[in-house]
Amino acid sequence: MQIINFDLEQELWMQEGSCVYSDTELFFPVGSSMKALKQAAEAKAICNECDVKLDCLEYAIRTNQDSGVWGGTTEDERKSIRREYRKSGTLVNF
Ligand code: SF4
Repeated sequence: MQIINFDLEQELWMQEGSCVYSDTELFFPVGSSMKALKQAAEAKAICNECDVKLDCLEYAIRTNQDSGVWGGTTEDERKSIRREYRKSGTLVNF
């Protein structure tokens, strides 16, 4: 018998994300070209309207998501947030 292990709480917030029906590629821009920057800005605009933005950001920080737009932040923006999160255990400066 195979036991399927998943975090029900995690599954629930993900289903409520504003990006559920968006193009996944939009949230994973590659490089720093004008096209990629525009893509990231478009993804962040969707995040800013998302009801689970903080859940998403905290998940990205806790699980070290090092690519893509999560919780309205790019990977570079999450580096400083991650440093603070490790010190305090909360998303203090967000
Ligand atoms: S914050 Fe952005 S990436 Fe996260 S679930 Fe919402 S829309 Fe998707």
